[in-house]
Amino acid sequence: MANTTLMMIKPDAFENGHIGNILEKVTSAGFKIKALKLTQLTKRDAETFYEVHSERPFFGELVSFMTRGPIVAALLEKENAVSDFRTLIGATNPAEAAEGTLRKLYATSMGENAVHGSDSDENASIEAAFHFSKRECF
Ligand code: GDP
Repeated sequence: MANTTLMMIKPDAFENGHIGNILEKVTSAGFKIKALKLTQLTKRDAETFYEVHSERPFFGELVSFMTRGPIVAALLEKENAVSDFRTLIGATNPAEAAEGTLRKLYATSMGENAVHGSDSDENASIEAAFHFSKRECF
């Protein structure tokens, strides 16, 4: 799994009609789509996915944001996928994200920042298994 990462296009980007543009930029940057779905997280799903942040003051806000509408989940493949995808999406806070990054282009705030990308190979595997069964991965 070392060459894969898990992307989520978050509810704000879905609401603002950015799914097509984001997928185009992701594939143009050399990522191959290995699995893809439109889905919606339950409260329990979001609490599990972001468990590492459960003690943070913004946890409630994060869970309610991530469950308020559909998301796109995708498993992406590329050499150095985790780190290259973090570069493509940019800093957590769009105000600090580099020009041309997905968060600079499509995010509106620190919380509503359009795209998720795994932060390690280990988490990429855990997050891929969270969203996809083996037969959904190609
Ligand atoms: P990431 O790895 O760049 O996504 O950032 P983190 O792992 O630090 O945070 C996970 C997610 O929590 C971010 O992508 C944001 O959606 C959200 N988040 C982080 N910091 C804040 C904050 O200060 N306020 C709110 N409302 N959400 C935050």
